[in-house]
Amino acid sequence: MSVIEVRGLRKSYGQNDAVAGVDLSITQGEIFALLGPNGAGKTTTVEILEGFRTRDGGDVSVLGIDPEIKGLQARTFRDRIGIVLQSTSDAGDLTVRETLTHFSGYYTNGRDPEEVIEAVGLSEKAGELIRSLSGGQRRRLDVGLGIIGSPELLFLDEPTTGFDPEARRAFWALIGSLRDAGTTILLTTHYLDEAEALADRVAVINRGKILEVSTPAELGGRANSLARVQWEFNGVMQEEMTAEPTAVVNRLIEQFSGEIPKLSVSRQTLEDIYLSMVEISEGGAK
Ligand code: ATP
Repeated sequence: MSVIEVRGLRKSYGQNDAVAGVDLSITQGEIFALLGPNGAGKTTTVEILEGFRTRDGGDVSVLGIDPEIKGLQARTFRDRIGIVLQSTSDAGDLTVRETLTHFSGYYTNGRDPEEVIEAVGLSEKAGELIRSLSGGQRRRLDVGLGIIGSPELLFLDEPTTGFDPEARRAFWALIGSLRDAGTTILLTTHYLDEAEALADRVAVINRGKILEVSTPAELGGRANSLARVQWEFNGVMQEEMTAEPTAVVNRLIEQFSGEIPKLSVSRQTLEDIYLSMVEISEGGAK
């Protein structure tokens, strides 16, 4: 079942075609990541899907609704989605618990605030004022506010900026559990390891156009990319790119009696693939 359907989406700011004909199809229960450099058009696209920006052209359906809809239907729409924006929530004179309790009341299916506090790892800070939280803790509260309404669809715009490594891992586990419960998630991130860990599919976007949609494992022909075998010989690092790394290692085993010095076998990371895709698209645009 399709949760987001986008055809030929366009949005310009003056002469700047921020979104220049984007097609997207995201199914229920999927974690979908939008990847792209600064200014690629990710936030513009996502905010159109959230109903925060109007579009210049194209067809958009989110949970079967056009997000530009107004009135009562807009409220119903908002009740079914969760949003974590790029900017953090305002500092306030309410505590974490009071804030989440307050917002929970806005939704038809508001979640238990205590459960959400625990899920985002803020139990020790539940009684503290928001303005006393650190940047990363504030971000966790943003995520808590995004999920407090039991959303069917959750938008996460660079959700883990400012998180320490432990908090990122905890967040990934939280997102995984939301997906397991059937929540569809649209994520933008600059962390390629985050996209790899979370996303079922990724779209690479640059200059308002989608370059490719694929699984993280298959993006840019990654699954068939050559492996890099590196080792040291006479104090100098050697390197061979090969489709058969095992054969290369077997040859080296014969060549060296005992341990092969500084042996490593690696494949292109998602970041390697992403960077070369963006670079090629920049070259084509010049
Ligand atoms: P980042 O990774 O930096 O968040 P992004 O991919 O989310 O980037 P957008 O914020 O969608 O990029 O911006 C796409 C383009 O549209 C950029 O060139 C930006 O300058 C322009 N743009 C975005 N919002 C506006 C606006 N309100 N007015 C004018 N131009 C805008």
